Amino acid sequence: MEQSRRGQIIDMLKQDPLTLKGLAKLLEVPLKVVEDDLRHIEKSVAPAFKLRQMPPECEQCGFVFRHRTRYTRPSRCPKCKSEHISDGTMQLVAD
Ligand SMILES: [Zn+2]
Repeated sequence: MEQSRRGQIIDMLKQDPLTLKGLAKLLEVPLKVVEDDLRHIEKSVAPAFKLRQMPPECEQCGFVFRHRTRYTRPSRCPKCKSEHISDGTMQLVAD
């Protein structure tokens, strides 16, 4: 049987940190689908694993977007208004 997409995401995130965009590209599905999968995955892998997110950063002023509740990249920096924001990465780590 073919492995489910969520199973694939779990395997990939256990191996390497990836961006939301990177996951969507690898799986050839829209970002929204990956976001939805991640929400389910976070619950299903707990408490053995947790999704560790490296926050996006403003490439202009270095502002770090901590405490994000979404997986997507913010569109603009609240501090300097730059739209050059790096993608945050995520990885599944044993808790
Ligand atoms: Zn900034």
